[in-house]
Amino acid sequence: MSAFTNAMRQLELAATAMNLEAGLLERLKHPERIIEVDFSVRLDDGSSKIFHGYRVQWNKARGPYKGGLRFHPQTDLDEVKALAFWMTIKCAVVDIPFGGGKGGVTVNPKELSARELENLTRSFTRAIADCIGPDKDVPAPDVNTTPQIMDWLADEYGKITGQLQPAVVTGKTLAHGGSEGRGTATGQGAYYVFESFREKLGMDAETATVAVQGFGNAGQEIARLFHHHGYKVVAVSDSQGGIHSEEGLDIPEIIKLKKDSGHIMRQPGSRDITNDELLALECGVLVPSALENVLTAPVAEAAQCRAVLEVANGPTTPEADMVFAHRGVPVIPDVLTNAGGVATSYLEWVQNKAGEHWTEQEVFTRLKPLMNDATQSVMRVAEEHAVPFREAAFIGALERISRAIK
Ligand code: NAD
Repeated sequence: MSAFTNAMRQLELAATAMNLEAGLLERLKHPERIIEVDFSVRLDDGSSKIFHGYRVQWNKARGPYKGGLRFHPQTDLDEVKALAFWMTIKCAVVDIPFGGGKGGVTVNPKELSARELENLTRSFTRAIADCIGPDKDVPAPDVNTTPQIMDWLADEYGKITGQLQPAVVTGKTLAHGGSEGRGTATGQGAYYVFESFREKLGMDAETATVAVQGFGNAGQEIARLFHHHGYKVVAVSDSQGGIHSEEGLDIPEIIKLKKDSGHIMRQPGSRDITNDELLALECGVLVPSALENVLTAPVAEAAQCRAVLEVANGPTTPEADMVFAHRGVPVIPDVLTNAGGVATSYLEWVQNKAGEHWTEQEVFTRLKPLMNDATQSVMRVAEEHAVPFREAAFIGALERISRAIK
């Protein structure tokens, strides 16, 4: 089942539970605009190559379209549509004045030199420049896209419009209008969400261990925070595989190793495991932080975790959700858990528009109540409607989006 099919099933489930008007449901099943571009990129050997990119603008009832930009060989329209829809829900879950969108280019950035990556980013920006803007559609980083890439995008957009407008994109470097804290915000936000759920889950650092799949921007930070707060992080992985130690891993050391050598495996004091093994490990919290559709029904049947904290977008299929619900394993959904990233993007956008630069403490002082209020609201709706947390997050968000559409 594709990510988009899964996303639409999640929408229908919530719409049924809350009795959403048929007209509104129909509106929310379709994007407002799909932009597909073929654009040419100059390579280092002097030749040119055509790449295919997307920007999907799902809904702007609550504000400008907002959502990341993904560079990945498997990126296709279906995936970008799912991600754009989830962004619409997510921005409403944390109640920031944005709609939802997402973009992507089908490319393996690891096969490009730094100069080729810059050419690709600038060329893609030229191709979609008419469709983005600080009050229109604001991209941000996602899988394989970095603050440097966001700087190139802002710079190219400034050249095209003849006016430097940093608020056209978030997740930039600090030197170019990025926000303090944006780099770690997704992990930080996820940890705030976990903290709010902790008592309900009956977990603490003494009794709960953690396994994290995906060791990039988001995965490293959530692993670091669990480790920092005294939890044993017993396993982490990246696309090549993972490592496991019942005694707990030294996360700061592994982050350093990953930065220096690009891999995390073959560590003294731990054993190498596959990603499948990681997902089946006995642990307190399983934290998928890589890609979609990794927790399928058979994986959920075999899982030995007590809770799932979805840092990745769309890691759990609707069938797996049903298995987890049946087994009494709570799933804390992506649209809440990883919303710290977009919430801090919003704070960056506000700073850019006001010409201000806040300290990290000022940023997190604003982020924490956004995440806590969103979490309390999801818990409240879950109780009122007697539904799992994902459905509750969707119901709350759909109520807000519906009000805005009306
Ligand atoms: P990233 O590119 O920094 O890291 C992705 C990680 O996943 C890498 O460690 C990679 O090796 C690993 N990975 C890729 N394929 C894998 C596989 N098949 N098995 C195991 N690991 C695999 O990306 P990121 O920004 O950390 O994003 C990760 C997830 O979090 C995505 O779903 C993204 O949409 C979501 N997310 C990220 C942010 C953010 O601010 N970075 C915000 C919200 C949601």
